[in-house]
Amino acid sequence: MSLIYNKKTNQENNHESNTKPPTTMEERQRQRFVDKATKVSAKYLRRLEELNGAPETMQPFFKVLKDIYVDMKNVEKPADTKIVGTYCVMVPDELIYAVGAQPVKLCSGSYTAFAIGDDLVPRDACPLIKAVMGFQAMEVMPIYDDCALMVVPITCDCKKKMVGMLKERVPTYSLHVPTAKSDDTDMEQYVQELYQLIPELEKVTGQTISYQSLAKSIDQMGFAQYQMSKFNTYKKHVPALIKGTHAMALMNAFSYMPVEQWSQQLHLLNQELARRKKDKHYVSKDKQPRIMVTGSPIIFPNIKIPLLIEETGGILVGDETCMGERSLYDPTVVVDQSFDGLMRSLANRYTRPCTCPTFVDNSQRIYRIKQMIADHQVQGVVYHVLRGCLVYDFEYQTLEDELGKLGVPVIRVESDYNEEDIEQLRIRIEAFIELIKLKDLALRPKKPEIAG
Ligand code: SF4
Ligand code: SF4
Repeated sequence: MSLIYNKKTNQENNHESNTKPPTTMEERQRQRFVDKATKVSAKYLRRLEELNGAPETMQPFFKVLKDIYVDMKNVEKPADTKIVGTYCVMVPDELIYAVGAQPVKLCSGSYTAFAIGDDLVPRDACPLIKAVMGFQAMEVMPIYDDCALMVVPITCDCKKKMVGMLKERVPTYSLHVPTAKSDDTDMEQYVQELYQLIPELEKVTGQTISYQSLAKSIDQMGFAQYQMSKFNTYKKHVPALIKGTHAMALMNAFSYMPVEQWSQQLHLLNQELARRKKDKHYVSKDKQPRIMVTGSPIIFPNIKIPLLIEETGGILVGDETCMGERSLYDPTVVVDQSFDGLMRSLANRYTRPCTCPTFVDNSQRIYRIKQMIADHQVQGVVYHVLRGCLVYDFEYQTLEDELGKLGVPVIRVESDYNEEDIEQLRIRIEAFIELIKLKDLALRPKKPEIAG
């Protein structure tokens, strides 16, 4: 089977009709792909919705995931707004909004696209890259096909090689990220990188970036971060007010929603969580093990790990992955009110506090994980490694040693983008949660024996 399909024109993409039966072999293959990909996404969306305790105000976030992955629609945006695809957490969305475009994060978790990409890139590449390349080759996802430009930070070897492949099909800009963020020379280089990105973005929309447009977009993102920080305070509550898998879904939806719309919806969700707190409406029991997940990205529909944690008796209270709060945790702090000051604040915000394992010195990441363990009263950590994601695998041992000193159990789970490993993962995660329950039981004060 030929995997590099003839490139469709935008017109064909925009007017794709499911009513016309596929005629050529290529069209039939595409149709089979769409059927399978939407079926898998619908199944995971159903499991998300069926997981007890979803707040009412989660519905719009679920709808966005349905629109993108089940109905394969484009992102909702004002007519004629151009899409700029981004990857990772180092591309400042503020710059994209400031030229009047819509950022869409394209890191992918699709099993079906992964199966196609598996034949396009080396076997040992990570599944995220395979899934991106699979969607790219199939040309059935508007969020990929309508991109006027893709901006890819060079964070690891997989992302670096992906740029080369993407460039053959779509305008792609590689953003060089410093490897040592504490080094001023490296940081200066990153500021210049962001300056060089500006004309590329301006070409996309024909609008020039101004001090006002950049300041406005920093404010918009600031509001999202503010809502996120409020949401985090509710996530720390014991017993839990929201399931962690649901929290991950709303963070995934952030990739496909205009920031103002997303923040507004999170504001409503925060209000609902405040009511839950007042009414003592909890979604976990007192002694339910509180689990945190860290490691390789967890991207819809690949949400088997959080689902397994919460379906086997744990409550997921912390998410330290790059699809979680990492992307919105730190606000942009503007010290110097000039245009250059704004640019430097963005360069700082998108690198210095970042806990991705792609930086040389990552003691900050260990510190952040320990801080989350304390804040969220975490009793066990699930360390997720996507097959082929070496940067996370490198860091596992250090984390295990550090958490060992704190007496916090950690389990390393390796997975791929398919369902073949689910039963094995279920057994391991279930045993891990049982172990935490036993540990908790042993630590509880014994009831005094009543004499006579
Ligand atoms: S962990 Fe960091 S470098 Fe890796 S995919 Fe996520 S954002 Fe990119
Ligand atoms: S950091 Fe890991 S998951 Fe992300 S692109 Fe690189 S290898 Fe893949």
